[in-house]
Amino acid sequence: MTDTPDTCTPLPGSWQRAARGAGLFGPAGEVHPTIFAEMTSLAVRTGAINLGQGFPDEDGPTELLEAARAAIANGHNQYPPGRGTPDLREAIAEHQERFYGIHLNPSDEVLVTTGATEALAATLLALSEPGDEIVTLEPYYDAYGALIRLAGAQPRTVPLPHPSYLPSREQLTAAITDRTRIILLNTPHNPCGVLLPRSTLEHIVALARQHNAWIVTDEVYEHLTFGVQHLPIASLPGAAERTVTISSGGKTFNTTGWKVGWLTASAEAVTAIQSVKQFLTYASGAPFQPAIATGLRLPDEYFSQIATGLQAKRDLLSEGLSAAGFEVSVPSGGYFVIADAHSVGYEDAVTLCRELPERAGVVGVPVTAFCSPEHSPAYASLVRFAYCKRTEVLREAADRLSRLRAR
Ligand SMILES: *Cc1c(COP(=O)(O)O)cnc(C)c1O
Repeated sequence: MTDTPDTCTPLPGSWQRAARGAGLFGPAGEVHPTIFAEMTSLAVRTGAINLGQGFPDEDGPTELLEAARAAIANGHNQYPPGRGTPDLREAIAEHQERFYGIHLNPSDEVLVTTGATEALAATLLALSEPGDEIVTLEPYYDAYGALIRLAGAQPRTVPLPHPSYLPSREQLTAAITDRTRIILLNTPHNPCGVLLPRSTLEHIVALARQHNAWIVTDEVYEHLTFGVQHLPIASLPGAAERTVTISSGGKTFNTTGWKVGWLTASAEAVTAIQSVKQFLTYASGAPFQPAIATGLRLPDEYFSQIATGLQAKRDLLSEGLSAAGFEVSVPSGGYFVIADAHSVGYEDAVTLCRELPERAGVVGVPVTAFCSPEHSPAYASLVRFAYCKRTEVLREAADRLSRLRAR
């Protein structure tokens, strides 16, 4: 995973390597080392500030932490129901209604999962057959490449061109064909920070209907948007019956370690996906499920405040990077900002990332870690930095980055 230190997905070039058998192991059966692991150990060795990893360094709301403690004390410590506790499924349905006007039946159109990651895995395994094509946007969250291969499917990507990161209509039309079984979206997008606009989403729905494809959408950053509203594709006409919407409590409530995620879809799709999910984890997180239900029912102010707070952090880091000489693409949502190392004299972001801890005491990751080898050259000079960190940490990072200029 991108965001855990002992990472084990094969990157960069995950798809090539994944093509070797299941592809997740090297020739000697070792877990592939990744750029994330390399950068984390570099951060530890040099004492650099690690902005390579996308997890918050602060706890979420007290109400949630208290609710989890209470649940443990009150005996919620055995397997929860396979679909998730009825109360959490209701809270998820209420949340979709409150924020997006999407009406769901919590008894059969909602499935609680072990993070968004398990939701993605179970969905791709359930809805695709070996040989089917799965179309996704590139750069892509690192799990996508590995999961598509684990499902035996063929990845096909539509590039998000720097610096707009908006997919072109023509390229979407060309990539989505009768061979496409699933269109896998991520909005707001990691690592590009873009929100897919309504016109793009409408075009994707039309193509999915024309070619009878599923839409699977990863919306874990749904509440972390800056001055723009997240638009779930499932809320568009003609989309709901063919869309699986995936989200998670991790990013919204600063509880990435709890791994409570969910998906919403038609009853038929939920049943198919649960038939896979039951043999992955069956169920998980008994005391965390009531706590996440508490979170989903927090007042609107909570959700607007987390976005405003994160926007200030985005600005702090973006300004620091600009002052250090980087060209910055300011994101509309999510945890990450992309900076171009070209403007500070590096054509290869991997080289910059290896030198940055020594030169400036900060760690980032090259965007090519989120690309197939084929498309990497277009992103070669780009670096991803996380701003989901405490303000004083970001201030210190900005201060250290200014050393780059000083030389
Ligand atoms: C963090 C992240 C996930 C993982 O979510 P979990 O709930 O921790 O499994 C999935 N997709 C994207 C785009 C992410 O950034």
